[in-house]
Amino acid sequence: MTGDGFDVIVIGGGGAGLAAAVTAAEEGASVLLFESERELGGSTQLSAGLFTAAGTSVQAALGIEDTPGRFFQHYMDLNQWLLAPGLISAFCEHAGPTLEWLIGLGVEVPAKVSANAHMPGLCQAGVEDVWRGHVPKDQGYGLVQVLAKAARDRGVEVVLNTRVQRLLTEDGRVCGVVADDLGVRAGAVVVASGGFAHDRELLARYYPAALRAGEDLFVVAAEGSRGDHLRFAEAVGASVAGDGWGLMLPTAYFQRLHHWQSGFPPKSRVYVDASGRRFMDEDASYAVSTGIIEAHGGSVWAVFDERARRSLPPGYAHWDADHVAAEADAGRTVRAATLAGLAAEIGVPGETLEATVRRWNDQLPHGRDDDFQRHRTLANKGSRQNPEPIDEAPFYAARVLPAELVCTHAGLEIDAGAAVLDERGEVIPGLFAAGEAGAGVLGQRYVGGGNAVAGALTMGRIAGRNAATTQR
Ligand SMILES: Cc1cc2nc3c(=O)[nH]c(=O)nc-3n(C[C@H](O)[C@H](O)[C@H](O)COP(=O)(O)OP(=O)(O)OC[C@H]3O[C@@H](n4cnc5c(N)ncnc54)[C@H](O)[C@@H]3O)c2cc1C
Repeated sequence: MTGDGFDVIVIGGGGAGLAAAVTAAEEGASVLLFESERELGGSTQLSAGLFTAAGTSVQAALGIEDTPGRFFQHYMDLNQWLLAPGLISAFCEHAGPTLEWLIGLGVEVPAKVSANAHMPGLCQAGVEDVWRGHVPKDQGYGLVQVLAKAARDRGVEVVLNTRVQRLLTEDGRVCGVVADDLGVRAGAVVVASGGFAHDRELLARYYPAALRAGEDLFVVAAEGSRGDHLRFAEAVGASVAGDGWGLMLPTAYFQRLHHWQSGFPPKSRVYVDASGRRFMDEDASYAVSTGIIEAHGGSVWAVFDERARRSLPPGYAHWDADHVAAEADAGRTVRAATLAGLAAEIGVPGETLEATVRRWNDQLPHGRDDDFQRHRTLANKGSRQNPEPIDEAPFYAARVLPAELVCTHAGLEIDAGAAVLDERGEVIPGLFAAGEAGAGVLGQRYVGGGNAVAGALTMGRIAGRNAATTQR
């Protein structure tokens, strides 16, 4: 600590904040980190820890050739070049080295093929051409444990249960924070306080699409996601980027928990829109699935049969055979003896629904999907058995819509060095941001599993380094 406070104050002890704090300490800075909750971790700790990065040792060990340049091209194209190329270039360049840094600190990412975000290794994170989804052992919890230990080892002072109230400024420079009504001075401040998923007013202002889910909306982001960064932004005239963007996952209306607890819909299901036609690969990555469903009316039907219901594995809260039967008994999930009857109940043309299911039965159970290529997605997930036909009465239809709110993307606009910009596009001296609080990396399209954690840790690391060094 300097005589006049700390070199760096970090607001928030999730992935971005911990990465910033550890890196600033590695640069020799004295670091104070405030965390509003009783423990470190935030949404990062709840996450699968899936980390998207290019040109890594894990990819190389699996014989996968990849470069940050290729990653950049994919990232920008999927986001329709709506993001700042300078920032995304820095992110893509540094994501790989950040992953290597984490491995050096003790994070384990085995060099083996993984079928999903629950299996350590390398998986297909989204719709990328080259696999970039690095799944660490013990997922997000594992990442936070390793970073928290690194912070302790490097002398970062961590204050839990303390919510920063506002930023301190002096002569146009951010020079500290107020917490517990006490001012603490610092050479630079890193805002890493996560998103605003738990604040309805901020959702209405910055991500109204989330509220379209109505009473089906459920939030899986950490409790601390209250949007304090947007209040800080307003007070210091920071520019806000990412307005209107966030990540909603498609779920059945009866899911109220993240799929690890809610469970997974049956493999043998077909999604149809109001026309009664199939319109997507039912297992499409959530990099694109929400956008596809929104383009088809925002709410669609998952149609499956009695065999699929009966085969649901036990142990999950919602996608469970008894739970689905109870939903049908209550009339919330539609059940009918024939497909024509089901179509009449959900208001789609009966002959179209019958034709849709006939075509699905002609292809998917035989390992092919000429229309939507779902057999490729299933193979990438390591799913070896073909889906069963949809032909055993009764038939079911459950509404599917984007209703699970994972993260929000509107935050303080940052440049490639994680410095916060004001409304004129100029750097606000002494202020850095990263993670969901520091916007610009997370775009309209979520680049598959892994860009939020990778963005938080990579830009957190850049923020920590620059906060420690630019004041000297
Ligand atoms: C269930 C789930 C699964 C996910 N899986 C993945 C995945 O596998 N891969 C991926 O890329 N993304 C995933 N995400 C998204 C990703 O985890 C987050 O976007 C990312 O971890 C956010 O990191 P962060 O550091 O910005 O925020 P957080 O990790 O949420 O940390 C912010 C911290 O700041 C604290 N805080 C808030 N306000 C204050 C204040 N005023 N003062 C002090 N502290 C404050 C909060 O309590 C919190 O601890 C997932 C999210 C969830 C919820």
